[in-house]
Amino acid sequence: MQSWFQVCVCVCVCVLFRYAWKSEHNPRKTSTFPTTLTSCLCLTGRWSSAQSASFCCSSAEDRKAQPSMLKHLSSKIRSTGPVSVSEYMKEVLTNPVTGYYVRKNMLGADGDFITSPEISQVFGELLGVWIVSEWMGAGRPEQLQLVELGPGRGSLAADILRVFSQLQSVVGGASVSVHLVEVSPALSRLQAETLTGKRNMEASSEDDPVYRHGETAARVSVSWYRLLEDVPAAFSIFVAHEFFDALPIHKFQRTEKGWREVLVDIEPADPDRLRFVVAPTPTLASSTLVQADERRDHVEVCAEGGVIVQQLARRIEEEGGAALIADYGHDGTGTDTLRGFKGHQLHDVLSTPGSADLTADVDFSFLRRMAGGGVACLGPVTQSMFLKNMGIDVRMQVLLRNCSDPSTRKQLISSYDMLTNPSKMGERFHFFSLLHPSRLGVPKKPQGLKLEKKSPAPLPVAGFTELGF
Ligand code: SAH
Repeated sequence: MQSWFQVCVCVCVCVLFRYAWKSEHNPRKTSTFPTTLTSCLCLTGRWSSAQSASFCCSSAEDRKAQPSMLKHLSSKIRSTGPVSVSEYMKEVLTNPVTGYYVRKNMLGADGDFITSPEISQVFGELLGVWIVSEWMGAGRPEQLQLVELGPGRGSLAADILRVFSQLQSVVGGASVSVHLVEVSPALSRLQAETLTGKRNMEASSEDDPVYRHGETAARVSVSWYRLLEDVPAAFSIFVAHEFFDALPIHKFQRTEKGWREVLVDIEPADPDRLRFVVAPTPTLASSTLVQADERRDHVEVCAEGGVIVQQLARRIEEEGGAALIADYGHDGTGTDTLRGFKGHQLHDVLSTPGSADLTADVDFSFLRRMAGGGVACLGPVTQSMFLKNMGIDVRMQVLLRNCSDPSTRKQLISSYDMLTNPSKMGERFHFFSLLHPSRLGVPKKPQGLKLEKKSPAPLPVAGFTELGF
């Protein structure tokens, strides 16, 4: 028998699909990526196996491209000694002046990598349905804050908001606001354009935690923050797509003398180059971040990701809500996964720092441990399973049935394949969720009756369990 919750989600999906049936499929993303490019990205994209592809070489010209970052890192190392990989990544990616994320738009065909929300609008629409279903599962609170960490070009938030407006009959009673945590001023401008057009402005003071504010055409308030801690406390659904993999990691190597931290140093034979070295003695990080019962020989620990998950867990426990984290990763089995991407090619992590993206697989077992006992954790489940459970097949059938243009049909099929094919993004990416404990709580048993032998089954959470249509 279907639970009331399955019925609610099915209603959401059906209403959405009926609206989408009427409206045209927006070819914004699929058309930007011709089939030839998407199939080429399958081999070389950010999510492809680092082991199976060769690094793109760094020419002398390339080496000159980011002199300030290399100079900055070299002088830092010369004055204080080799830096941790975490410090290296933080500088390279988010240095306020020369950081990779701060300076450029790296997403898309002309950038360095491509992400699911940029491949197909269907991805964001299904996440929108998930958010609505969790909001309903929480008893339809009056306030609904959509908080996105690392929103890229703003496409995912835009697709989610479109679902909210198509599901007005369901979400209409809630006061919806959008809160974006974004370190990059350049990307925040792009996000503002996508979500609000010209209806946004920068804060007058640099000290204002809301550094930009705007309003969508449907008058939904959108605020930008540098830090999650500045987002107001209220019932929130948090979304983080390809965010945790961009956070700095520490790397540790098992040696005969015990765990040692991997550091970044200047190559003695060539002062214009950097190299990895193993710290001769324990560092604070190697003494505190490696688990006592660790069995791997090499581990990566994203302490910053751990802190953010703790913040999310505390907020969900205190204010209600849920977090949906989607990324490539492993459940405590990965080892050396740090890699660079530039122009859709693997790129040497230490070459031309600041010119390429740096990324490491997310350790979901670590996130689960950091979330603690105050929230329930679900997953990780593969992207393919999550999207299929959310009804991507039905959605695609509807879109294809209503599309007669051969090239759009081809793009739809190729984007579906890219998102769900196990050898492409389908099994490389995973979904993981933090939920308020009440969300999975078993219903109270009636007083005065004898205890049943079997506990009632917990209510299903969309995406993580198959839903009947
Ligand atoms: N979610 C988007 C973009 C992923 S790229 C998508 O899937 O398309 C990573 C995003 O996280 C970028 O927007 C980048 O600027 C942002 N980011 C990286 N490190 C961050 C940090 N420490 N704090 C806030 N945002 C960060």
